[in-house]
Amino acid sequence: MDKKFVVPGDFIGTEEEYLAGEGTFSENERIYSTITGESGEAEKKLSVAQAKPLRALAIGTVIIGTVENVVEPIALVSMKVGLGGEHRFGETDEYAVLHASMIRKGYVKNVRDEYKIGDIIRAKIVDKRNGEFRLSTDADDLGAIKAYCAKCRHAMKVESGILQCEDCGTKDNRKIAKDYRKYDIKY
Ligand SMILES: [Zn+2]
Repeated sequence: MDKKFVVPGDFIGTEEEYLAGEGTFSENERIYSTITGESGEAEKKLSVAQAKPLRALAIGTVIIGTVENVVEPIALVSMKVGLGGEHRFGETDEYAVLHASMIRKGYVKNVRDEYKIGDIIRAKIVDKRNGEFRLSTDADDLGAIKAYCAKCRHAMKVESGILQCEDCGTKDNRKIAKDYRKYDIKY
């Protein structure tokens, strides 16, 4: 199996063929990455090694980040990568900009209609301008991977296609990744 750059929640193999090793978890006989890094195989065991440092970031890299602030029509996102070990993310000083027009296919007027401060998103670096990374989340596998209730800050879950707070039941909208909360980030 070729080495591949993966982020939490990426499918990397099946238990029919492989064992789930370090940096992975399995669900319904499918093996997923729990960290950001490089997947590989040794003796039929799949594992994920820690990510490259952020300075290796380039256009096309998929990152995990937190929405730190929203100043319409832009979200400021702090980029984080795995430091090794399950569910652990290292914070860096790297910030990137996500413009409302890059959130999803179709017209988005305000960032706040799709993301809230504190949401954890998977995004792709699509440009670097004036020393600033620009992000996009307009693909199916990109978007919120963990969103928090605007009222009570509890994590939200998808039930029957609707995003709602696990605690207070408040319903809300996000541009979510197709594997929203298939794994859980302790963060
Ligand atoms: Zn709530």
